[in-house]
Amino acid sequence: MTAPDRLQAPLDNRVENRSTAPVVSRCDVVVVGGGPSGFSAAVAASRLGAKVTLIERYPYLGGLASGGMVLVLDDMTNGEEITCTGICMEMIERMARLDLCVYPPAAERRQDWQAWSKWARWGVFDFRSQMKPPPIVFAAAFDPDGWKRVSNDMVEEAGIELRLHSWFSRAIVADGRIAGVVCETKAGPQAVLGTVVIDATGDLDVAASAGAPFVHGSYIITTVFRLGGVDTEEAERFRFEEPERFHELDRQAKRVIGGAWDQWWLKTPLPGVVWCNCPHMAGFDGIKVEDLTRADFEGRKRIYALLDFARRNLPGFAGCYVVDVAPQLGIRQTRLLEGEYVVTKEDVMQRVHFPDTVARGRDYYTPYRAMLPRGVDGLIVAGRHYSATEQAQKISREIPPCMSMGQAAGVAAAIAIDRGIALRDVEPKLICAKVRAQGGDPGDRPSANARVLEAQMGVQVGVQA
Ligand SMILES: Cc1cc2nc3c(=O)[nH]c(=O)nc-3n(C[C@H](O)[C@H](O)[C@H](O)COP(=O)(O)OP(=O)(O)OC[C@H]3O[C@@H](n4cnc5c(N)ncnc54)[C@H](O)[C@@H]3O)c2cc1C
Repeated sequence: MTAPDRLQAPLDNRVENRSTAPVVSRCDVVVVGGGPSGFSAAVAASRLGAKVTLIERYPYLGGLASGGMVLVLDDMTNGEEITCTGICMEMIERMARLDLCVYPPAAERRQDWQAWSKWARWGVFDFRSQMKPPPIVFAAAFDPDGWKRVSNDMVEEAGIELRLHSWFSRAIVADGRIAGVVCETKAGPQAVLGTVVIDATGDLDVAASAGAPFVHGSYIITTVFRLGGVDTEEAERFRFEEPERFHELDRQAKRVIGGAWDQWWLKTPLPGVVWCNCPHMAGFDGIKVEDLTRADFEGRKRIYALLDFARRNLPGFAGCYVVDVAPQLGIRQTRLLEGEYVVTKEDVMQRVHFPDTVARGRDYYTPYRAMLPRGVDGLIVAGRHYSATEQAQKISREIPPCMSMGQAAGVAAAIAIDRGIALRDVEPKLICAKVRAQGGDPGDRPSANARVLEAQMGVQVGVQA
């Protein structure tokens, strides 16, 4: 064969790769993805006695919360009630004990200008409120390395087998049932087998590979970054004492970065270090290599343009510098499961309470069916790729509800293993009871403002076949 001939092959532009993967682990529950939902699922299942293997592509746990540097656990309240507890609250308390997590005490969770001026720049307010100023709520600002450190401790204490540096590549499926996963690693492909697999990849990698139906959603993406050397006192003084000049400069800063929420910089537990949840970049597909590469380049350009603007113009920012750009691109939405039930925007907005509710976010509820894929047994999903419409996911994808979903998925998996039954035959009420026993609030007791749905469920869940 001459060199040009070799370049032309293969003719259909595809290369077949029939690699054999050695089985490196056998367990009860395989969790793919060590972000907020997968970590919570692994801890919950392990604490119920299941043998758990947790797989993560990166060298740390936390997903978008640590590697994406999304540094606020958003609003966890429904009025006075704190709704996200369990593993999420344990994480908050453990990080706070290390001085790496900050949240407003009960007395300061109120709606007035004094509370606002103290807490707004921590990002701990009700961001959906139309009130001026928005109420300060129970939400928590944390440090990304604090998250990694505490999750390592919790995973070790729970006796979970953690496999970092392992990139899930395909599901092992036989007769409509998932039996494990194959990961790409430095040592070549490796198989991990389990009775139940939890997809917590955020992009539905496992369920999609296993053949479960899904839709392809999209939303803005962001290269989150941190600035150090910021005189936050001076920046806040300027904001409150010179509101007109502040608003003009703030508007210009947002134009330079190319789109941001109202508060484009927020305080962190590290003095003088702020995190910037911007720029907003549209038109990229969060699972396409070409788009991800372009977005990384585009994000950095905008960050350095803003740095230059901030140094020259913004009081408090004259000596600032980029501490780091998040190692993970901020992908909010890609594939979404089309599960046994698809949560709608109305369900979230109207606080619909389902007969099979097993998890909750601030004031809304998640049914067990929204975590169950159609057509594949032995598989459950948790996290931002759960079964919801694009619009519903945009308003129900924060870290705390993902942790609540993860905890419910881990508990469901452990029950299925313990009883030798299918996931769809696990009784939602039993999941709730065990989540409660772990200190979580699965949303089984609807709050006064919930719309309690008594209607028949589309599929029978919790009926032993
Ligand atoms: C820019 C931005 C700002 C946000 N702001 C906030 C905010 O202020 N407050 C808030 O509460 N929420 C916020 N969110 C939402 C929140 O961060 C996510 O919805 C949440 O982290 C989802 O958790 P998850 O566990 O489902 O997914 P992820 O956090 O995405 O975790 C998925 C994990 O799976 C791993 N993984 C993925 N694919 C593979 C694979 N093939 N093999 C092995 N491992 C894999 C990833 O590395 C990661 O660790 C924001 C999101 C973004 C992008």
